[in-house]
Amino acid sequence: MIMIKGGHVIVNDIAGRVLERGDVLIDGDRIADVGVDLPVPPGARVIDAQNRIVMPGLIDAHMHSNEAFEMGRYDNQPLELWLNEVYPLFYLPDLPPRLHYLRAMLVGIVSIRSGVTSLQDDLIDLHFKPTAVDQAAQAYRDLGLRGWITTSMWDEDYVASLPYMDEILPAEVRARIAAQDGTATEAQIELHEELRAMWHGRDGIRIILGPSGPQRCSEKLLRHVAEISERDDTPIHCHVLETRTQAVTGQRKYGMTLPSWLRETGCMTHRLTMNHAIWLTDADIAMMGQARCSITHNPLANLKLGSGVSPVRKLLRAGVNVALGCDGVASADTANLLQAFRLASLIHKIGTPDYEQWVSAHEVLHMATHAAARSSLMQDEVASLEVGKSADIILLDRNEWGMIPMYDPIRHLAFSAGEDVVRTSIIRGRVVMEERRLTTIDEDAIRAEIVDMARWYKRVICPELSRHAAVSAPWVKAMYQRAQTDTLDDAFDVRRTAPLA
Ligand SMILES: [Zn+2]
Repeated sequence: MIMIKGGHVIVNDIAGRVLERGDVLIDGDRIADVGVDLPVPPGARVIDAQNRIVMPGLIDAHMHSNEAFEMGRYDNQPLELWLNEVYPLFYLPDLPPRLHYLRAMLVGIVSIRSGVTSLQDDLIDLHFKPTAVDQAAQAYRDLGLRGWITTSMWDEDYVASLPYMDEILPAEVRARIAAQDGTATEAQIELHEELRAMWHGRDGIRIILGPSGPQRCSEKLLRHVAEISERDDTPIHCHVLETRTQAVTGQRKYGMTLPSWLRETGCMTHRLTMNHAIWLTDADIAMMGQARCSITHNPLANLKLGSGVSPVRKLLRAGVNVALGCDGVASADTANLLQAFRLASLIHKIGTPDYEQWVSAHEVLHMATHAAARSSLMQDEVASLEVGKSADIILLDRNEWGMIPMYDPIRHLAFSAGEDVVRTSIIRGRVVMEERRLTTIDEDAIRAEIVDMARWYKRVICPELSRHAAVSAPWVKAMYQRAQTDTLDDAFDVRRTAPLA
């Protein structure tokens, strides 16, 4: 048992309870009691929280840990051109298994240090082999971090997943793509089932469905995904309408918006999470609200790639569940969720002078706790300090420079606190970080190994990424430019400049 004694406790329940000098009792992996002046059970370890804020751990609802060795590598490229650099056509290196482990480790460590206790890792592996998920799951287990990991799904060929490519690509390139040995739909489903049987429910690891985007999946695959989601009550985690190019794709490829296509294929339910959800029509938003689906809001990556700003207020008003994420570290460039927290608390104050519609720091806390949990159907397990829930708790330093004098800890967290404010992290009842030192791993040894592997990646893999990207860049650029100027019918048009209006 662990007794956290005398802290400023933010319960984060529906009543918004805060205890000025409160205690939290942990029994095993559960919260056993929350109150004032609780008796310390014999043998319980006591954590003195006099100068601490005690609150539920944060949840990063959208990450790609596989991008870990490409932080800080890119700038001034929109999504489609950036994707061409990070995931180039005709280049899919076989990477050592340990590299997958170390990338997840890096992201996991930065996450924990920024107060994250659950990480929804949309792990992209276009080999469709178990190795990447096995290694990431192992890393999160070793760290003691909750990992909610997707199995990658993408069975539509490159030409069909982007607009105009059938006209832009030279015939011999199209022929080469057509001849590529695409992984069969069935094999991707089987891999999901295999990984789920192997990992789901083990030590905080969960396996969820990860169709990369509707336009990157065949209708058959999406229908399979919808069936499995219903059968197993499993979340679907999918990129939707991040860019104008994708809005154009819906119009040209399906004659309907991508959310409508998801409804058509059975995926538009309360188990669906749409990542980004920027280029939405009002009809899309109404449909999403009716389905009670989720989105992940990833302002760091959306600004970096010039994608736009998700109409969060409109989505919230429609009843959509809005969760907070960083997004992959090659676009957000960090797994530090507090940076996304800050940006989400600021960005919605532009776009409309109607300040009552702006998004507050406390609403962002909801996005990073309850809503993020709900996007993975974990709302009954985590996100508040209530009896019976998992003991996922962080302790913040109320004397950190940005916290003095303390007015409202959540506002400090959003606007003034430094990253070091997160001192201690408890996940599933286990202290995984104590006074900023990770307790579950040898940090120095892991750091040395990560540095070596990342340098190898930079030296050996990155030049190949660049070489291949340079070949396809002119085609992608032509596609991108056309997609920016192509007329969108009224049924597909959205306002990029006034997301809050
Ligand atoms: Zn993403």
